[in-house]
Amino acid sequence: MIRTHPDRMLRRVAGVVGPMTDEIRLLCDDMVATMTAAHGVGLAANQIGVSLRIITIEAGSEKESEPLVLINPRIIRLEGEEVGEEGCLSIPGFYETVKRATKAVVEGRGLDDRELPIECNGLLARAVQHEVDHLNGILFIDHLSPVKKQLFKREYMKEKK
Ligand code: ZN
Repeated sequence: MIRTHPDRMLRRVAGVVGPMTDEIRLLCDDMVATMTAAHGVGLAANQIGVSLRIITIEAGSEKESEPLVLINPRIIRLEGEEVGEEGCLSIPGFYETVKRATKAVVEGRGLDDRELPIECNGLLARAVQHEVDHLNGILFIDHLSPVKKQLFKREYMKEKK
């Protein structure tokens, strides 16, 4: 089940993941399945109620490309700036433009336990920034201007009732 705003789990800073175990592998599989079923671009573990630093991203435009799984991801470089529309599985039905870096270099462990830096551009770079934010308890609505935040509160919280 995907937690939705204002669930407090979404505001907790997620914990560092230790060595790879079967449990972690299962969790990653579960995250990919949950993300795919919900037609999401990305998912952070705390969105399904597990406070650990794992993100999955539906990376490719090609159908056969595997989703990206990153354990303990760290953004080590950000470049450029662009505005684009974002949504979030934890904030269903709400979309708004957010300013993000155009390029991001992220380091993290993959499912094969190898530590790799990955260079991301465009939508992938945006998704990585959005998902790493989740691990730090940050939602994309936090990046909105005060006026848009007010709008969000009125629209979204009204629908929640
Ligand atoms: Zn999200």
